[in-house]
Amino acid sequence: MTQLVHGNAELRLAINGLASNICLVPTMGALHEGHAALIKAAKNFVGRDGCVVVSDFVNPKQFGQSEDFKKYPRDLEHDLKVARSSGAHILWAPSVEDVYPGQWPLDIETDPRFEILEGKSRPGHFAAVIEVVTRLFDIVQPNVAVFGEKDFQQLIFITNMANKRDPKIGILAIPTKRDSDGLALSSRNIYLSSDQRNVAHLIPDALKAAVLLASKGFSVRDIKEQVIQTISQSDLISLEYIELLSNDLTPITPGVVGRILIAVKLGDIRLIDNMPILLKENS
Ligand code: AMP
Repeated sequence: MTQLVHGNAELRLAINGLASNICLVPTMGALHEGHAALIKAAKNFVGRDGCVVVSDFVNPKQFGQSEDFKKYPRDLEHDLKVARSSGAHILWAPSVEDVYPGQWPLDIETDPRFEILEGKSRPGHFAAVIEVVTRLFDIVQPNVAVFGEKDFQQLIFITNMANKRDPKIGILAIPTKRDSDGLALSSRNIYLSSDQRNVAHLIPDALKAAVLLASKGFSVRDIKEQVIQTISQSDLISLEYIELLSNDLTPITPGVVGRILIAVKLGDIRLIDNMPILLKENS
């Protein structure tokens, strides 16, 4: 049975009534099978005596002015169903005041890598993400927190923050859940028109083709060119960036597994995806 709680005191009471091994799954709600995979992994990880807390909070601070904060999908009843069927113990839906109570300044250590990839088109985004996750950690005090590789850049920064700030908190990373055509599940997919949805498979197609070319020894330039060609098969998709980087977001090294990361727009809808990639040595 999943307990729905709102305020911080109510949350603490619910946690205290349960076990001591606490696993937090931070989300912005609009839960889908990708989130369900995270909750199930959390449940597996903490075992019988653990307690899985799913936070459901659309963080206003991490949306830019021109972004979709107001129209971001919210449906607590649906979220409760997904949390329940995935085995969460607590669904915690705090208010803005619960997460940002009065004067409670936090020093967020910035990083030049906050400005690349997602950070380039979303200024201030990662500082806001790190701030909210820090606050969620302070309130919930988890032993483990679970995040998706879908947001790879975010995962790197959160792992760094946790290692520096509170190394006792373990970070569990879960591979991206995809639809049957390969499109990464995302809360924003519901906004795609049927025409846009029909061509969205070109995003994972392009990444998969890139991974294959890398294994055959093609250069970064040729791989990027192939991605551009695949994406441009549809004029409904425009490419924002395609980058091949190491797993710490520095330049990729041949012979060491890195990441290929992409952002595209379909109309107003911005989608991101990534996959592991291994460039052959001497490529
Ligand atoms: P969000 O609600 O979009 O902020 O995502 C909450 C968590 O779910 C983040 O750790 C995401 O990386 C993760 N997530 C979102 N989509 C997926 C997916 N398709 N597969 C796995 N994890 C995901």
